Amino acid sequence: MKFIILTLFPEMVMAGLTESILGRAMEKGIIDIKAVNIRDYTKDKHKKVDDYPYGGGAGMVMQAQPIFDAYNDVIKDLKGTTRVVYLTPWGHTFDQKMAVEYASADNVILLCGHYEGVDERVLEEIVTDFVSIGDFVLTGGELPAMVMVDAISRMVPGVLTNEESGETESFHNYLLEYPQYSRPEEWNGRKVPEILLSGHHKNIEKWRLEESIERTKKFRPDLYEKYIQSERK
Ligand code: SAM
Repeated sequence: MKFIILTLFPEMVMAGLTESILGRAMEKGIIDIKAVNIRDYTKDKHKKVDDYPYGGGAGMVMQAQPIFDAYNDVIKDLKGTTRVVYLTPWGHTFDQKMAVEYASADNVILLCGHYEGVDERVLEEIVTDFVSIGDFVLTGGELPAMVMVDAISRMVPGVLTNEESGETESFHNYLLEYPQYSRPEEWNGRKVPEILLSGHHKNIEKWRLEESIERTKKFRPDLYEKYIQSERK
């Protein structure tokens, strides 16, 4: 699977995505991540990529031309299905279900805005999906793009090893994950729950499910409702 990030800050993006599990997946050739500098495509002699908004108002707007040319250059070599995402606070809120869905595409192009945003006309021309990572405003789309690449990559077969498998994680079946413990058995006067040392797998599973349900009820009543509804079906 290929990720192409259209950005004004390619080093920032690559620095955050080439370590640990994603770095290993790239080395194995399971995923490919490329950051493309939009500024390299500007036809402005001063290398400018933004200008004042028509109609007035604060800030600058990223211009259509460099983004459109960068996009046309990168799609030349792509094969298979391609999603083109604009990261924006007014997009659909990203979640685990979307991560799974995007993982089935061959290519995902992520367009990172900056300043006040991007000229609407180029969005109309190239974008298939508008995605937000939450109800807050960041200075640029780079961190949201990195969040999406990370969450989607984990869902690409072969990126996680069996031990790292995402099957019992938070949001699976509308439940949050149960509490986890590791060595030592006692730390700071706190003991690991007895049941986890019992070796009785059925009881451990039951305990984990109960803990998941309790945690979901407490922290995410909205998800808990969905869990209850899915159990009724
Ligand atoms: N003026 C825009 C608005 O009110 O919707 C906000 C622009 S923001 C300062 C600059 C860029 O950061 C956006 O174009 C977008 O790419 C990115 N961005 C900021 N917050 C985001 C969020 N919650 N999710 C996704 N992208 C975001």
